[in-house]
Amino acid sequence: MNIATLHADLWQHLQARRGQLPHALLLGGLRGLGKFALARAFAASLLCERPQVGGEACAACPACNWLAQGNHPDFRLLQPEAMAETEGEDEEGGKKASQQITIDQVRGLDDFLHVGTHRAGLRVILIHPAEAMNRNTANALLKMLEEPAPATLFLLVSHEPERLLPTIRSRCQSLPVPLPAADAAAAWLADAGVADAGRWLALAGGAPLLAAELDGSGESRLIEALLEQLARGPALDPLAAATALDKVVKAEKGGGAAPMKRLIEWAQKWLFDLSLAAAHLPVRYFVGERTRIEQLAAASDAARLLAFGRKSLQYRRHAEHPLNSRLFLEDFLLGYAALFAPRQEGR
Ligand SMILES: [Zn+2]
Repeated sequence: MNIATLHADLWQHLQARRGQLPHALLLGGLRGLGKFALARAFAASLLCERPQVGGEACAACPACNWLAQGNHPDFRLLQPEAMAETEGEDEEGGKKASQQITIDQVRGLDDFLHVGTHRAGLRVILIHPAEAMNRNTANALLKMLEEPAPATLFLLVSHEPERLLPTIRSRCQSLPVPLPAADAAAAWLADAGVADAGRWLALAGGAPLLAAELDGSGESRLIEALLEQLARGPALDPLAAATALDKVVKAEKGGGAAPMKRLIEWAQKWLFDLSLAAAHLPVRYFVGERTRIEQLAAASDAARLLAFGRKSLQYRRHAEHPLNSRLFLEDFLLGYAALFAPRQEGR
């Protein structure tokens, strides 16, 4: 399944606008929805010389070939150096690749915007993610958006559009990218070879590309290790569990936020599901563990779950740099185990 099918409604909307494109479009939405793939497919569709009936690029004409090889003369991709796929060239002598789109990258567009286009008369600039620009860089881009070059489309992709300069946002037509329909998302994951698609999709909050990323990743190891402990409920040994999880957290490099923070965030989702189950509502994230969650919720009560859910916010704040990660986990897990301690009656 391709990205145009996954986001069929939005794709049709984009295609309907081919004839009267704005100067800039901003695709915003949650991480893992496939915004970048969608923007790229739309760029390909616009540059293709023989688009298919649904508007998708043919993948065979010279323009499609150039785009696939990364040398289409009328296309530019601006993304942080750290995200570029051409690793290993090491031109900077081991210098760490930038996590930001640099002002030089934006200024580099100047020449591109002021020479004639090569084919079809349209230029496309894809910027991803648009929030990865500091103020100076964003202002350099703003100048280009304020004096639009003819026959030029800026496609901005953002996980956090609210973090962009308001002046940039106001120069773009916003296109919120929604969660895809559940059946389309499940079909997408089946195509991507993800077993147990429903489970990962729920854990990813409905975002299929994030779900595919979770499956088999370091993140899934983190989740499995955490679940093994939390699912014990009243039988949890907080000290042993803290030691085990501390090892997993320390082995986990890479990823975005600190592993401890991610671990606590998954624990918060588990607590959220426990609260839902305590209120006799369907769980949201850990659908594969629904039965266990319902049993555990019955062994606790809504008030204690709510109180500990609130307390977990504080844990999350301190999770980036705990003084001692094992003690931090012990403390958290002691609080968790207390949720299932017998109620003190007769007082
Ligand atoms: Zn083509």
